[in-house]
Amino acid sequence: MTKYIFVTGGVTSSLGKGIISASLAKLLQSRGYRVTIQKFDPYINIDPGTLNPYEHGECYVTEDGAETDLDLGHYERFLNTPTSKANNITTGRIYQNVINKEREGAFLGKTVQVVPHITDEIKRNIRILGESGDYDIVITELGGTVGDIESLPYIEAVRQFRWENGSGNSLVIHLTLIPFLAAAGELKTKPTQHSVKMLLEYGIQPDILVCRTEHHLTMDIRKKIALFCNVNINAVIESIDASTIYDVPLLMLKEQLDKTVLTKLKLPHKIDPALENWKDFLGRLKNPTSEVKIGLVGKYVELPDAYKSISESFIHAGAKNECKVHVEYIPSEQLTPENAVEKLKGLHGVLVAPGFGERGFEGKIEAIRYVRENNIPFFGICLGMQCAVVEFARNVLSLKDASSTEMNPDTPHPVIGMMEEQKKIVLKGGTMRLGAYPCDLKKGSKAANFYGKTHISERHRHRYEFNNDYLKDYENAGLTPTGINPENNLVEIVELKNHPFFVGAQFHPELKSTVANPHPLFINFVAASMAYARKK
Ligand code: GLN
Repeated sequence: MTKYIFVTGGVTSSLGKGIISASLAKLLQSRGYRVTIQKFDPYINIDPGTLNPYEHGECYVTEDGAETDLDLGHYERFLNTPTSKANNITTGRIYQNVINKEREGAFLGKTVQVVPHITDEIKRNIRILGESGDYDIVITELGGTVGDIESLPYIEAVRQFRWENGSGNSLVIHLTLIPFLAAAGELKTKPTQHSVKMLLEYGIQPDILVCRTEHHLTMDIRKKIALFCNVNINAVIESIDASTIYDVPLLMLKEQLDKTVLTKLKLPHKIDPALENWKDFLGRLKNPTSEVKIGLVGKYVELPDAYKSISESFIHAGAKNECKVHVEYIPSEQLTPENAVEKLKGLHGVLVAPGFGERGFEGKIEAIRYVRENNIPFFGICLGMQCAVVEFARNVLSLKDASSTEMNPDTPHPVIGMMEEQKKIVLKGGTMRLGAYPCDLKKGSKAANFYGKTHISERHRHRYEFNNDYLKDYENAGLTPTGINPENNLVEIVELKNHPFFVGAQFHPELKSTVANPHPLFINFVAASMAYARKK
């Protein structure tokens, strides 16, 4: 029977519920359990696909094409197992399902209410992953903070779920803050006491408290928290600020969070955690033998969370190469033909980021011209690849006003455009190419060499495509399409001949890089940047 762990948050947001959930999952996985993590988001959007990355960070895409919260990226990077649309549910989705059922007449004339209909739908979604038979333990992270109006139905659903499932089959971990008051020179437990009291008001006694803190918790503080919040002393877990999120599983291991969880769920401790590979990764991450500076040219650079998966991929690939990768965020809007040299000099590689819309487009083109002409390693992802195709058309193929029809619908040379079939779908409701698609790599290409195979699958999130009418022109001039979708012939990778590293990918490799499996394109891009740095 599947066991369930709920993770709630108190006192403030941004305490790192996602990282704690992922770290606990990692420890349980390393003891031989099959674990997955699910996140409930209390907002009304159906999914984060329509949210501004400035507000909510990156939109993470799963294999089955769901647009989800960026925490799912952490789950995959820690666990090295894919998530799916069942792993991220929003209030909007819950209400949509209930309202659709109401329209179908499924409630037989009853008044449809938050309790029981919304809470029942929440509980149904909690069970979906458990009932798949694929997992021993499902960790469900409740977004938001206890006490928020939006979170109430979720807390109530968890209360009911626990009551119905019987004791020993689920537990609640409450993540809370122990602030340090500099003036008093003391850690303060009162906010934690209040947030546990609020949970109690809703009928939930947390089993474990994970306490975020900047200073170590003394035994006295632990005792005080245990006494006032009705938890065992070994269920008061210290979560001290870490230098990297990848330290957190080991910090939780030291606090014996995994043991406490297994005991409370009446599960055998099985084997000792097998974390050799994880520790090896941390060793490489913390002891780099070289460093490089890579520019990330994008439009959402003010909020680094907008490029979370890319910066994490650099951490994985850097560790693999024992190289510290400094990522310098460069706003594409500020790049002009006049200042590109000034802004990009000193970089050992340039990544042009994914994105939507016209803003910053011309700056990205400038950056690419500079790195192409100066043999600086270049990696273009999604819009970044499309920009590389446009730049090449304008400056090498001499198609002066070439563009993507996203930026200029009337361009005489639409080297990036929308496929006819795609146009019909867009008219029906604006769908994108989302999720995993196969790709065949040309034998002997750099890409095939990097991957070490010729059949791959990568995740997508875009509307526009390389226009195959221009395929021959590109091939003849040296920007070669080396990755092709075997189902519809769409170009998925381009690479430049006679350049140390110039690769554009229509898909998002950053979504598949994990600690256990750093992405080959990132590994080789970092290696090329290291080679460039050595030459300089
Ligand atoms: N805006 C481009 C498209 O829709 C690229 C999208 C992206 O970079 N994710 O095709």
